[in-house]
Amino acid sequence: MEVETLLHGDNYIYLLIDGDEAVVVDPGAAPPVLEALDQHRASLKLILLTHYHGDHTGGCIPLKQASRCRVLGSAGGPIPLDEEVSESRTITFAGLSISVFSVPGHTSHDVAYYVPQAKLLFTGDTLFAGGCGRLFTNDPERLWSSLSRLRALPGDTRVYGGHDYARDNLEFAAALEPENTAIRQRLNGLIKRERMGPPHPPSTLAEECKTNPFLRCDSPEVRVAVNLPEGSAVAVFAELRRRKDHW
Ligand SMILES: [Zn+2]
Repeated sequence: MEVETLLHGDNYIYLLIDGDEAVVVDPGAAPPVLEALDQHRASLKLILLTHYHGDHTGGCIPLKQASRCRVLGSAGGPIPLDEEVSESRTITFAGLSISVFSVPGHTSHDVAYYVPQAKLLFTGDTLFAGGCGRLFTNDPERLWSSLSRLRALPGDTRVYGGHDYARDNLEFAAALEPENTAIRQRLNGLIKRERMGPPHPPSTLAEECKTNPFLRCDSPEVRVAVNLPEGSAVAVFAELRRRKDHW
């Protein structure tokens, strides 16, 4: 199975392709997906939604009409689904199991899709390269707990987030911790790769755990950086999110 990354605006759309069959994660628009399916001569079997913001779902209905694929997502959203998925549901594609993780916090509906055998993690707007999603639930504890759960997965897991925000996120992280050489190196590497063309995911979870401040809210360095040396991880996370919102 291969993963193809499509960039639409600043949204990533992911195609999982196995021979002549494909799955798409968060089709924000239909045309780039149809074009990629055409190139691969693959038919779309399944749409997986991480949450219901329009920039992740805009292509859903036209793609369903064009391919009669099944649409899966969490309960309670505005998109008609063939199946509501929740924690511990497993989907099979290309002989691989795709596990559903409930990861609320960005919205109350968010799920992530994890393919343990291939070490792939599709995180929607919960976890990005170098950052995390905004808190539309106003519930930092929930998002922190969702991120804590994702960071506990194996370090060589490849992370596919929903947006191309890596540069902005890493510049924020570097400003927050100017002495952190791992962040500086990651940012410099990204800037170099940008000169060759737009850099694409994935990053690894190990890289995120080292350089993404939103996964390090229980580290002394990040606590000090937000002036909460004695703060709880949730308090540090909330402050970090607030600063990034206004950055
Ligand atoms: Zn979103």
